[in-house]
Amino acid sequence: MVTDKQRIVTIDGPSGGGKSTVSRELAAKLHFTYLDTGAMYRAVAFQCREQGIDPVDDRRLESLLTLLRIKLLPPVPGEEDVRVLVDDQEVGSQLRTPEMGMLASKVSALPRVRHTLTRLQQAMGADGSIVAEGRDTGTVVFPAAAWKFFLDASPEVRARRRAAQLRRKGELVDEQQLLAQIIQRDKDDRERSIAPLKAAPDALAINSTGLSVEEVVRRMYATILAAPCCGER
Ligand code: C5P
Repeated sequence: MVTDKQRIVTIDGPSGGGKSTVSRELAAKLHFTYLDTGAMYRAVAFQCREQGIDPVDDRRLESLLTLLRIKLLPPVPGEEDVRVLVDDQEVGSQLRTPEMGMLASKVSALPRVRHTLTRLQQAMGADGSIVAEGRDTGTVVFPAAAWKFFLDASPEVRARRRAAQLRRKGELVDEQQLLAQIIQRDKDDRERSIAPLKAAPDALAINSTGLSVEEVVRRMYATILAAPCCGER
């Protein structure tokens, strides 16, 4: 039995590894809340663009972060992504572009941004029963989470999956360009000095190349059932 742990699942890994779909389905199976931390970095990136703020050298970033009000709501039935409200305005659909992913990656390397969003995420998970998905949820945000996973796949497979996801939304996709962006974004995420993308030492690594979403969820679910936490049997 695991003790002094939080009743939290973390799923980290590079972009396109299938984290979002797997996290959402696992959360539904466990009756946990799904916390998409990437959406929060995308929301900050979006706000910077809306307000014409260069995140790297504009002091207005400070007040943006101080006033930031982000709300995450479950996806509309039949949709894939969580709903994101910034200052009560729905911005979700504008966050999911490859360009916003690149800007989110740039913004996410800034200590002030990470500090603010990490605190918010910890507050959202304070009562447990969440599946948190991101790059540092097992290492930095919820180091005491009872169940940690690191989900990876080859860059080609990840680009193909991301392309299919964007096409389902009716977008035109250049898969080669997407692959190049994914490789660049992962490199930046892995090499940044603060909260880099990496597996927590106590995370179970799963390579999803060749595995279906159902198979990945099944493995995670079995792992969780095999290691009850926090007084459960
Ligand atoms: O997961 P998603 O692709 O939406 O994340 C967008 C970007 O936000 C990532 O490339 C990464 O730079 C950043 N991010 C992060 N830490 C997290 C989640 C996302 O740095 N926990």
